[in-house]
Amino acid sequence: MAARTGRPASRVGMALLELHCMSPSGDIRPGSPGFVSPSTPAWLIGASALAIGLLLTAGVVATTRHFYQDQLRQRFLWAADERAEVLQDRFDAHTKDLDGLRRFLVHPEHLQRSEFALYVDPLLDTSLAYSWIPRVLDEARPAFEEAGRREGIGDFAIRDLQPDSSLRIAGQRSEYLPILYSATRRIKRVPLGLDLMAQPTRRLTLERARERGDMALSDPLILPGANPEDNPGLLLLAPVYPPFLASSGELRALPLGYVSAVFSLRRLMSEGGSRDTEANLALVLTQAGAGASDTPIYRSTGAPSADRTLSVRKTLAIADRRFYLDIRPTDAFLAANQAAEPWLAFAGGLWVSALLAALLYTLASQRRRALLLVEERTAALRQRERELQQSEQRWQFALESAGDGVWDWNIETGEIYHSAAWRQSLGYSETETSLGLEAWRQRMHPQDRADYLDCLQAHLDGLTPDYRHEHRIQRRDGSWIWILERGKVLEFDRDGAPRRMVGTHVDISRRKAAEMELARAHGQLRGILDSATEFAIIAVDPSGLILTFNIGAERMLGYSTAELAGLASIERLHLWSELQNRSQDLARQLGHPVVGFEALVARAAELDDPEAGEWTYVRRDGSTLTVNLIVTAIRDGSDALGFLCIARDVSEEKRVREILLERDRLLEKLTLWLPGAIYQFQREADGSFRFPYASVGIRDVYECTPDVLREDAGPAFSRLHPDDHERFMVSIDHSAQHLTTWHEDYRVLLPSHGLRWLRGQAAPERLADGKVLWHGYLADITGLKQVEQELRALSITDALTGVFNRRYFNERLDAEIGRAQRHGQPLALVMLDIDYFKRINDRAGHSAGDLVLKDICQRLAQRLRRIDSLCRLGGEEFVVLCPDTDLGQATILAEALRQAIRREPVEGVGEVTASFGVAAWTLEETADTLLRRADEAVYAAKQGGRDQVVASDLSTSPAFRLPDRSGGGRSG
Ligand code: GH3
Ligand code: MG
Ligand code: MG
Repeated sequence: MAARTGRPASRVGMALLELHCMSPSGDIRPGSPGFVSPSTPAWLIGASALAIGLLLTAGVVATTRHFYQDQLRQRFLWAADERAEVLQDRFDAHTKDLDGLRRFLVHPEHLQRSEFALYVDPLLDTSLAYSWIPRVLDEARPAFEEAGRREGIGDFAIRDLQPDSSLRIAGQRSEYLPILYSATRRIKRVPLGLDLMAQPTRRLTLERARERGDMALSDPLILPGANPEDNPGLLLLAPVYPPFLASSGELRALPLGYVSAVFSLRRLMSEGGSRDTEANLALVLTQAGAGASDTPIYRSTGAPSADRTLSVRKTLAIADRRFYLDIRPTDAFLAANQAAEPWLAFAGGLWVSALLAALLYTLASQRRRALLLVEERTAALRQRERELQQSEQRWQFALESAGDGVWDWNIETGEIYHSAAWRQSLGYSETETSLGLEAWRQRMHPQDRADYLDCLQAHLDGLTPDYRHEHRIQRRDGSWIWILERGKVLEFDRDGAPRRMVGTHVDISRRKAAEMELARAHGQLRGILDSATEFAIIAVDPSGLILTFNIGAERMLGYSTAELAGLASIERLHLWSELQNRSQDLARQLGHPVVGFEALVARAAELDDPEAGEWTYVRRDGSTLTVNLIVTAIRDGSDALGFLCIARDVSEEKRVREILLERDRLLEKLTLWLPGAIYQFQREADGSFRFPYASVGIRDVYECTPDVLREDAGPAFSRLHPDDHERFMVSIDHSAQHLTTWHEDYRVLLPSHGLRWLRGQAAPERLADGKVLWHGYLADITGLKQVEQELRALSITDALTGVFNRRYFNERLDAEIGRAQRHGQPLALVMLDIDYFKRINDRAGHSAGDLVLKDICQRLAQRLRRIDSLCRLGGEEFVVLCPDTDLGQATILAEALRQAIRREPVEGVGEVTASFGVAAWTLEETADTLLRRADEAVYAAKQGGRDQVVASDLSTSPAFRLPDRSGGGRSG
């Protein structure tokens, strides 16, 4: 029992241990939910184990007990069944035996007593006695009794059983059923001759057997002559019928007699069973069936146990009777089937539980201590891990904030960690796998690779404490960046070989670009400085110490850079006396003392005025030269970091300038008495003009000084006559464009001398820069112009009348037609011819005729508009050129002129009339045609009767006459 309960308890213990200590993965997981927390006290774990152990023990005890009860019941049932079967078999055996006997007695009349004894003898082992009881009628009684006695039974007679068990001679009845044959071993005295009918119990049994025609069993009855232990007994009777009736079943009331078996109830119940069986089971036999009393007819010797839970009732049958066999175990049975005491199982369980609890308590206490220790160590480790992490984060942050990418190279495994900044700088996303070492080197610029590997190897070999290298790396997109790589071996293995290396990458592309730009700019500057061989370019520090000395300076001054740069002061190159003088001047200007080289830079330093000035330099050989020197301050904010002196040798220039000045003076003297001015006139790139040179005569020509005009020709241009301004400019432009000699006469309106005519003549040349420079002469030609104008006036004026002559008319007509054509303006001619002039000549004389001509011209001139031109075509023919006048307006004008002639008589001559022809210019018409049409109109007027106006009408006729509305008649 202990073993049986102990095993599950151990399993539970193990399970508990597993639950306490292990997670499914086998790790120690003290804090896992659902598991016993490490904070659970050990005593609680022990107590829990004990409680569980006790519960399991109780369960096991209860189960065992139940099992035992079942087994006991089963055993009891088996024993009871067996017992009941044995008894039933015994009952059946008795009925079979008796039935055999009955059939044996089919012919009882022939049966001898000895034959009967012989037959039943084997059957007597189990029965007390077998008997043959013939039915004897009263009339056959004597013969029957006689026959019995003949067989040797001395006092054989039919007898009755008395209540005291004695026998008495039976009284007379109609029939008897006396025992004739009887065989027994255990009954001392068989009551032969006993009439069964005389005793009530036996009689009732006989009657039942006769009624049934079959066997019947009696109630228990006292057997006379039997041993007391065999009483009470049972009587089993079977009727015996004659052979022919035995099978037909008829005439049951008339059996030949009965066979009987007597057996002891006690022996029947107890014989055949083992002694154990007898002792183990308590039997109670009770008759069953209606009318049967509950009083047991048999009770076994063994007392039933007090336990009433085990009990079984069996039914037994024999002949016409049924019995209840109540079976219960005896104490002996219970004792024989007693299981081990349940307390043993309980004690075993308790012991194992206690042991397990103690074990768990110990384990839990130890584990708790271990967990606490682990927790302590873990906390310490975590703290250190946190510190490490923080330190690493700070480190990373610091580096990445500074724009550094970080790499960490495990030299043993070849693994490289690259930080986010590193990846970003090379165009890799954070999720992409890192470049391997080799791929990384492959991305390095081929020109930088060898040098880099040397640098790295030197560090790996321990030759340098760390290394830094600048090289180019190709980004992911193919572009190149410059990086500064710094690295250091952090861990070495036992042999001192490097194991881990950490480094940073900084993108220095900008710096590199700036450096390269600076180098380029520096180179460029140096190149510029050195290529400017015409200039001495000298840089000095604020104290005047020479820093830079270019090739130009070397050539100019005879010093080499090595002699001066960083060694000598700029003062060494200057004429001392000059510096002194300038210092004094400047000191006065600036209001504070100026010493030595300060005179050179004070202006640049204080006034920030890089004004050029002429200075005298002293060469290495002591000779001097004049330079044009510009000193500028090199500034950083407001502080002067130094000065840059740019000097140009102007010695030659100065000489040339002096020569030129001399020439200028000569020129000035030569031109002093020139009537006019010689000059240079220049058109600048922006289109403005100036007079680079003008002799003093310009003052008279333009009433401007040469100095003013040297800068700007504007004042001279402002003097131009408005009517000539455009022409003047066009001519200048033309000359500049075609580089043809400029030749122009034009008027100026001078402040003092008023209108003057000027004549300019100049030869242009185009300068290299696109400017045009004229060299020329300007003369005042006012007198000449006056003569010219007078001559001109004479050439176009009719000497007699003072009006324009025919030549002028022709010129003007052409010009006006041109204008009309250009501008689409009208143009008309009014032509007139004095009527009968010849007659005037003839009558009043030729001079009177001349006077008429003059007078008429005056009258006409008074009537004319300012734009009209009166011309004498010849003799007494005149024409008025009317610009901007159509036919209608000209006709009206002509009419007015006609009236003006005829209105008043000419002194000494009388009335004078004239005939008028008017023609308007039509498009594309030539001067000749127009003139001819006017002439035709005059002719028409003449033809029409004179003193009238005829307009030339193109549409109808060559000319039409205007109706005379003068009211006066025509002279003719
Ligand atoms: P009409 O025109 O009406 O037909 O008659 P007319 O007499 O005017 O005719 P014509 O034209 O033939 O005569 C013009 C004359 O004018 C002829 C000429 O002697 C005269 N004559 C020409 N020029 C001058 C001049 O300058 N002075 C004077 N006094 N007479 C001149
Ligand atoms: Mg005339
Ligand atoms: Mg005429």
